[in-house]
Amino acid sequence: MSGLILEQAQKLLLERVNRIKDVEEVTLWDAARRVLAEDVYARHDQPPFPRSPLDGYAVRSGDIRTAAKDQPVRLKVLEEVDAGHVGSKCVEPGTAVRIMTGAPIPDGADCIVGQEDTNYGEETVEVYEPVGSYENYCFTGEDYKAGTKILGEGMTLGAVEIGILASLGLESVSVYRSPKAAVITTGDEIILPGEELTGGKIYDSNLYTLVTRLRMWGMEVTAGKRVGDDPKAAAEMIRDAAKEADLVVTTGGVSVGKKDIMHEVVKLLGCETIFWKIAVKPGMPTLCAQYQGKLLVCLSGNPYGATVNLELLVRPVLEKMSGRPDLKIKRERAVMESTFPKMSRVTRYVRGYCEDGNVRIPDGSNASGILSSMCGCNCLIEIPAGTQRLEPGDEAVIVRL
Ligand code: AMP
Ligand code: MG
Repeated sequence: MSGLILEQAQKLLLERVNRIKDVEEVTLWDAARRVLAEDVYARHDQPPFPRSPLDGYAVRSGDIRTAAKDQPVRLKVLEEVDAGHVGSKCVEPGTAVRIMTGAPIPDGADCIVGQEDTNYGEETVEVYEPVGSYENYCFTGEDYKAGTKILGEGMTLGAVEIGILASLGLESVSVYRSPKAAVITTGDEIILPGEELTGGKIYDSNLYTLVTRLRMWGMEVTAGKRVGDDPKAAAEMIRDAAKEADLVVTTGGVSVGKKDIMHEVVKLLGCETIFWKIAVKPGMPTLCAQYQGKLLVCLSGNPYGATVNLELLVRPVLEKMSGRPDLKIKRERAVMESTFPKMSRVTRYVRGYCEDGNVRIPDGSNASGILSSMCGCNCLIEIPAGTQRLEPGDEAVIVRL
């Protein structure tokens, strides 16, 4: 038995999670990738006053109807109004106000003549071009009016949305809590960076890859720890992590070796096993369980396997919990530039680099224990079960990373 196909495995996980509805207030500085928990309405008109789109002169269009280079219209300049300031004069017939971009247009004026079409006069100004009524004139509320719904509940906040919130004068915003994830790596051979590399040991890369990826998705990582091949200690650590986290992700110990402790851990925790084994390479022995209502996703220890299955299994779960459509797995079509010579009985994911619709496989091994050749890759090539081989020019489906 080669295990569940990916879609079934994803479905079983998604059935067990719900959208998080807890709400919190965050400052705009912390609002990126957060999901709005309320509709947001404008509290004032934007812009709040009619403003000049140019550096020039606020005038009455009727005064300059006949203006031409060889027959300029001369107007008296009453004052200068710069952005951020309010003038004191009204533009009467025969007068103008020197005005800068962004400054409020004074009463009486119905257009702005750009300074290039004048002699830049200070006491009086010569105007060389006519301007129509309400030309070069930004109206009050032309961006939005007070009371207009600007952003809707459920929207994911990016740079533009946060800028809009700032333009409303808001300092903070109500958002849904982000999913909290804990990462636990297992293995007696695993040591942490900074420790001395002694016989039989390797450094923990999974902890760093997984925590970093989860943070890139905007998740709150509540714990990142390693534990040896000790089922009791691992169970204790998971129990502890699950108190705070919505989801616990582990790596290692899911295969069939003597030290594949996660099967024992699941028993010790009294978990319901959702599935063990998926028809996916890498990461076939992936084990998923439910512990006290929370998902426990136990990935293979192999660094490539763990990385791939975080994308395939954990990402959709977080998409649902957070209500973030940008976390949806993105599949695209691409044309192979490389050969992939192996036939596969299960769906296989091969690291790739895709540019302008063409995808190539990097030099180096695609083995599940190897991470270094994934450096710089931006996609996984999804090779369906039963595919014989892929040649340059063949069409393939990629999953964007
Ligand atoms: P396991 O899934 O525990 O059988 O581990 C499979 C392979 O991945 C073994 O070669 C482990 O040494 C390696 N491995 C397990 N955990 C990690 C980790 N956190 N970082 C790097 N390699 C790991
Ligand atoms: Mg192990």
